[in-house]
Amino acid sequence: MTVFSPATDTARESRDARDSCPPLPVLGHDVRVPLVTGGEVGYAALDYAASAPALQRVWDDVAAYAPYYGSVHRGAGYLSQLSTDLFEQSRATVAAFLGCRPDDEVIFTRSTTDSLNLLAAVLPAGTQVFVFDSEHHASLLPWQRAEGAQVTWLTAPRTPEQAVAALDVALHGAPKGPKLVCVTGASNVTGEVWPVRKLAAAAHRHGARIVLDAAQLAPHQPVDIAALDVDWVAFSGHKLYAPFGSGVLAGRPDWLRDAEPYLAGGGASRTVARRTDGGLDVEWHTSVAARHEAGSPNVIGAYAIASACRALTEAGFDRLIARERQLLARLRAGLADIPQVRVLSLFGADSARVGVLSFVVDGWNSSHFAAALSAEYGIGVRDGLFCAHPLVRTLLGGEPDEPGACGAPDAAPGERSLNAIRVSFGAGTPDEHITRFVSAVTTLVRDGAQWNYRTENGRCVPSRD
Ligand code: PLP
Repeated sequence: MTVFSPATDTARESRDARDSCPPLPVLGHDVRVPLVTGGEVGYAALDYAASAPALQRVWDDVAAYAPYYGSVHRGAGYLSQLSTDLFEQSRATVAAFLGCRPDDEVIFTRSTTDSLNLLAAVLPAGTQVFVFDSEHHASLLPWQRAEGAQVTWLTAPRTPEQAVAALDVALHGAPKGPKLVCVTGASNVTGEVWPVRKLAAAAHRHGARIVLDAAQLAPHQPVDIAALDVDWVAFSGHKLYAPFGSGVLAGRPDWLRDAEPYLAGGGASRTVARRTDGGLDVEWHTSVAARHEAGSPNVIGAYAIASACRALTEAGFDRLIARERQLLARLRAGLADIPQVRVLSLFGADSARVGVLSFVVDGWNSSHFAAALSAEYGIGVRDGLFCAHPLVRTLLGGEPDEPGACGAPDAAPGERSLNAIRVSFGAGTPDEHITRFVSAVTTLVRDGAQWNYRTENGRCVPSRD
């Protein structure tokens, strides 16, 4: 076996930013799935917003490293040294991908949820947190568990300008003390892009800090922490084509350095000794990453994220965005031709979006519709409230606290569905998947389902007979 040489950053060719590019190679592009009506078809993965397929490049990088896998920060052997170097290089690659400032820290976590819970755990005492109720639950919920924190949930704005104005008013009236704003970069429900730079400016005007939930933005657009002037960024590997169980929290070191470690254990502790009174003296690491990465780090997950960062950077976000815009335009035009389809939107039809779109179909329960897309057309989308219950219920015209009616495939014609269908795509999506999706929606709306469906374990599934 030859000695492993890790993937490194390579220069990008200069290209015309208006050029689109072919889809990036992803695993599963040639998977075929059975249809309930007979035969099989190539699977159209249109649920990237939940988890995107692995980039082939990520898979290849991980496979090349796998034989050299070893413990990180805790071994004298060659493979431990190599793995430690790889882990730290991955940190540097992520810092470059996010345009981190010199004193920013990159912490590897399990996911965006984990990253935001970590930040919630290090808030200074008495922090006031401001968050719109349109957020994903990962951004909405961690703060109320933070000791001594006071959370203000702002009502979902109907325009980007309203978002900035509402934040301005809320922060203006807030008492002195540490403040944090948490905002999403792109909605996991509507795909709409939030005015992050302006929200950051508003936050900073009032002495607040801001964390960007980039779970849905980072796979689609460059996220530059310095240019956006946000204090922290969180994202997940599995939505960035790197499904190996890692996520990232990057940003300002001070709150992280001053707080107790997120997890107590090996790696976070520098020395531990018994005291004469029988207790333990623990000296925690002051290095921010070590302090909050207790336990054996997920080196494969970190390396996979770094590999994805390199792949997207080298492909060129300008070209990926150009391609995504073409697919989005085709998708929206196709759905606009079906009068029974209503696309959900907070900011209106003209707002900037990434490749995530939710809709309802008149007379259909969304779970039934999504089940038929899968069983009869081999198309994988998501149905439900997308872990953003208050937002989806608001967009569907129900009160945010209204209980959802998920799963029943028997909505009477014209009945309002209390859940929605989400279609989402990205760098690996071929044009054909969008064309097939529009055609399947058109046919389903026109002709109805060809099969019977029933609810099993809360899911809508084809009946066996
Ligand atoms: N934030 C947003 C906007 C999301 O869409 C998601 C997941 O869908 C999350 C946070 C949580 O990500 P994860 O499940 O990887 O922790």
